[in-house]
Amino acid sequence: MSDWVLPFPDNCITCAHGVVDDLHPNGHRGTDYGKREAKLGAPVKAIALGRVVLSEYHHNLGNVVVVKHATGKFSYYCHLKDAGPAVGTYLRAAGEVIGKVGNTGQYSFGAHLHCGVSDERTGVYAGKVYDIVKYVKEQQALAKKAAPKAAAAPAPAAEPAKKPATPKAKAE
Ligand SMILES: [Zn+2]
Repeated sequence: MSDWVLPFPDNCITCAHGVVDDLHPNGHRGTDYGKREAKLGAPVKAIALGRVVLSEYHHNLGNVVVVKHATGKFSYYCHLKDAGPAVGTYLRAAGEVIGKVGNTGQYSFGAHLHCGVSDERTGVYAGKVYDIVKYVKEQQALAKKAAPKAAAAPAPAAEPAKKPATPKAKAE
């Protein structure tokens, strides 16, 4: 089973993915969370289980953590307050905290989390990036769709015409 969570609720977004403005003339390569509970020092949650594949300081993006997920995609988290977990660290569940909202790196003008999804380990710096909000919501929808099938699968086929009791697994 694979869970997906967003780092913060949508109402914490200060700049959405793809926005073109003075700060991002070529389009914003991520989603910024910087208000309400996404304040300095707030815990940053990884979107799913995975493995830390990059953890370093970048002059523009500050403390950066990149996590590789089972889907083959990478999620990245930038401007973190402190250095992230070591490369190779396993995140065993969605929502595991990988750092705190910070204001590190030259491209940060106030505490916020810049995050997104990419195809490559270093996709945070260059290459194709995806809207993390859209991506997580897509994965959540896929997981929801897959769930009823998985629950129905182990039902015994040999039961005769006796009225089947409602399986406990179906209770929500
Ligand atoms: Zn940003």
